[in-house]
Amino acid sequence: MQEQKRVVEKDAPLRMDDLIVITGAGGFIAGNLVRYFANKGFTRIRAVDKKPLYEWYLHVPGVENLCLDVSREANCQRVCEGAVEVYNLAADMGGMGFIERFRVECLRSILINTHMVEAAYQAGARRYFYASSACAYNTLLQEDPNVRALKETDAYPAMAERGYGWEKLISEQFCQEYWHERGLKTFIARFHNVYGPHGTWDGGREKAPAAISRKVIEALDKNDLRINIWGNGEQTRSFMYIDDCVQGIDKITHCDELIATPINLGSSEMVSINTLVSKVEKIAGVTMQRSYDLDAPQGVAGRNSDNTFIQQVLHWEPNTSLDQGMAVTYAWIKEQYQKRKAGERVGMG
Ligand code: NAD
Repeated sequence: MQEQKRVVEKDAPLRMDDLIVITGAGGFIAGNLVRYFANKGFTRIRAVDKKPLYEWYLHVPGVENLCLDVSREANCQRVCEGAVEVYNLAADMGGMGFIERFRVECLRSILINTHMVEAAYQAGARRYFYASSACAYNTLLQEDPNVRALKETDAYPAMAERGYGWEKLISEQFCQEYWHERGLKTFIARFHNVYGPHGTWDGGREKAPAAISRKVIEALDKNDLRINIWGNGEQTRSFMYIDDCVQGIDKITHCDELIATPINLGSSEMVSINTLVSKVEKIAGVTMQRSYDLDAPQGVAGRNSDNTFIQQVLHWEPNTSLDQGMAVTYAWIKEQYQKRKAGERVGMG
């Protein structure tokens, strides 16, 4: 059966007092997104997370904060009431240590998007953003550290990362069909590793840039200049600075050409983990004695973002250099570390 192509109707521009709903707002990216929209002057932002408020990484004045679990249908209905735009970033996730170990938890995030997209549709929201991941890509294309960068079509034929990646892929499908069948304008970004201040930096869910920074800070503090690296250090990745990420989310969600079309949102500056360690050493002014844990979780061998499509559609791509972004991130984690040592209460992000 041939599908009728949906006509894209132009909607009114977002007003400063239109209600924006952001889930996962106690966490890293959504917390920064709340602050980004507040700084832009939006006056009605509803921030939602299941964590108690004191555990939220960022508290933005003037925002309505709700502590609710959005894997439950009734809560999603409450959360989406009156929403004009919905940004769904809530998910149970973490770095490789978390997603390789807790696949069931990751898969169960399917409940979040399933209920959120329906509630957004029922509430008559105009736009719905979903945070997908590069983990949705076919893992067979990522078996070599010198990989070619992943382009959007590389998700199919599907062989996503177990647990987390498959959840992202099926949630993308939900978003796409809510457009094709029901006319809700949905937007899907496949994030490649995001890092920066107010991200998780300790506790087991942190990702490589934060984990390496913390290990170096800890080593310096204890005057024991050894670092243990997961894998052989040759695995490659690209890392996107948080400011680029929130700007990208805004650009993608307000581009009708991208309705129901997954797009890479990531940096194309690919580095090995060893190079990342060298960058942190340079920032800290230290040389570490490296050891390698070959049994530790390390994910795919190589991954990078092909930014041809985003450049073509948005004439933009994430462009903060890793050197610049890591200097700011390292300084922020050091500050958190010192505060914690002095007995102050700090979030792990
Ligand atoms: P994060 O863990 O810092 O934030 C996620 C937040 O969602 C947490 O505060 C958590 O409490 C909340 N949450 C989880 N389940 C919930 C529920 N049922 N109800 C309400 N809140 C719930 O993670 P992040 O790095 O900010 O990631 C945000 C989104 O971006 C996620 O969907 C993640 O999968 C995606 N993503 C992130 C990265 C990255 O590098 N950080 C890469 C790819 C994709």
